[in-house]
Amino acid sequence: MKKLVASLSAGALVLAGLSSSAAAGPPQPPVKTPTAIGFGGAVSSVDADATAAGLGVLRRGGNAVDAAVATAAALGVTEPYSAGIGGGGYFVYYNAKSHKVSTIDGRETAPATMPSDAFIDPATGKPYNFTPELVTSGVSVGIPGTLATWDSALRQWGSLSLGNALTPAADLADRGFVVDSTFNLQTQENKARFSAIVPTAKLFLPGGDAPKVGTVFKNPELADTYRMLGKKGLSTFYGGALGAEMTAVVKNPPKTATTTLPVMPGYMTTGDLKKYKPLDRVPTKVRYDGLDVYGMAPSSSGGTTVGEALNILQPLHLKQLSTPQYLHSYLEASALAFADRAAYVGDPGFVKVPTKELTSSGFGAERSCQIDPAKAAVKPVPAGSPDGKYQHCAKGAATTQRPDPRPDPRPDTEGKSTTHLVTADKWGNVVSYTLTIEQTGGSGITVPGRGFILNNELTDFSGVYDPADPNRIQPGKRPRSSISPTIVLRSGKPLLALGSPGGSTIITTVLQTLTNRLDRGMTLPEAIAAPRASQRNTASVTAEQSFIDKYGAALATYGHTFTPAGAPGSSAAEIGALEGLEFLPGGAILAAAEPTRRGGGSAGVVWPR
Ligand code: GLU
Repeated sequence: MKKLVASLSAGALVLAGLSSSAAAGPPQPPVKTPTAIGFGGAVSSVDADATAAGLGVLRRGGNAVDAAVATAAALGVTEPYSAGIGGGGYFVYYNAKSHKVSTIDGRETAPATMPSDAFIDPATGKPYNFTPELVTSGVSVGIPGTLATWDSALRQWGSLSLGNALTPAADLADRGFVVDSTFNLQTQENKARFSAIVPTAKLFLPGGDAPKVGTVFKNPELADTYRMLGKKGLSTFYGGALGAEMTAVVKNPPKTATTTLPVMPGYMTTGDLKKYKPLDRVPTKVRYDGLDVYGMAPSSSGGTTVGEALNILQPLHLKQLSTPQYLHSYLEASALAFADRAAYVGDPGFVKVPTKELTSSGFGAERSCQIDPAKAAVKPVPAGSPDGKYQHCAKGAATTQRPDPRPDPRPDTEGKSTTHLVTADKWGNVVSYTLTIEQTGGSGITVPGRGFILNNELTDFSGVYDPADPNRIQPGKRPRSSISPTIVLRSGKPLLALGSPGGSTIITTVLQTLTNRLDRGMTLPEAIAAPRASQRNTASVTAEQSFIDKYGAALATYGHTFTPAGAPGSSAAEIGALEGLEFLPGGAILAAAEPTRRGGGSAGVVWPR
């Protein structure tokens, strides 16, 4: 959520390069608009510069895929702690001609030599301390998938070359953006680990401190990297010279002399990079209230978990319920779906994931019977049996759950970073794309002279090896994600496209926003702004304070208890940062972003109504 100089006039761009004491006053972050309605295409992202980059591509005749790549690359400049070519993500695409939804799994993978006890400290025999030690290490760096995802999407459905799609972001990196309080705060919060790594301290802590609010942050090294990739293509990254630089820094992280952090070396090799492939996957699909809801299949748990929860909620007819009854149902359905996520979802290349059954209406209906309309179940609830044999609700079903051999004992260690964007073009194509480097600031390891940070995505594997755990570490495997880029079709045409960051709260944020919009009479902006709560099969519900203030007392009568998501005023107090599009009757598009969370997002359309 940094800010942009991109939409300034040429004259103002010159000003942006001057010191903040220039006569015209310091450069200002652009004004962000969380809602826009119009025609000709739309973009919504967390960042005004990135949204402007995508809209520019659309205005010049590019399509939704071109705009998505341009927006994502710009986020690599202005949101370098959440997104970039050092990470991975999941790309969902609706093709207006074929009415088909396709997806790309661009998840990071584990190196071929990663041992199953990689997260255990050999000195103690115990798991490494998660933050900052494991997070700030080469061990957590997965083979990045983002660049290959952009290339694959452009080749399959785009009209621009990779080089042309990266140009607006390269120009932005050269020009710089105006530092806002979010970028400054994120840098401050990472100062200890950024100052442990020489190239990271050099780039992101100029003069030893976080760039000040109102100054212009430039990243000419990233500009050069983007231009070089545009000219040379993928091979330099996936196994060539740039790949060798990346593996060198993972194998031998360039620590500063004064740091006390261990910054353990990792396992990535140029052979791993050469082997990396983004995977085309069949999307998940569930039918909800006459609509088709498409999501991301495993290796993400987003599509199966959002989809299962919708199938659980379908028989409960949320439209007809009181608000507390609705919220109780939403929380209980989410807990049940999270139990099944933990028990069954991992990388389908390594474990057998019952994706079809998890997203079947029969399984959802069976699980739905286990919700007591008057009482919250004791958490964690056990996993169900997605075995194709489902029972209708029997009297008393709510109290007769099967004991589960594999309740989820693992703590939630997913990051709270990441970024989501949505684009649409004048032809009706739509993209819903979530990308990440995992933790805010990823592994903290910047590739020297290249302007981007490597991910710490492998921390999304379970920390301790358990052969029954579908998300156990295995070489070459993709760690389970919660990323949930979603596209909803009505009669084969887009109605909604949305997604969010937020680790495992991504799933609940997408689910809550969908039900707010589809069942509870809220507009999309209202559904996004509404207070959030996240029940991920834990004893207490994680919630924003505004949710607890508004609904806590009513939901306490069902037995729900609440834990605030984070300290008041901190970024952790917020859940998610959702970006969405709604396709209105008559052909207009409503682009919507967060009004306030994470500093607010930026929605735009090509021709405002
Ligand atoms: N690594 C997380 C996932 O793939 C996303 C991290 C985040 O949203 O901060 O589910």
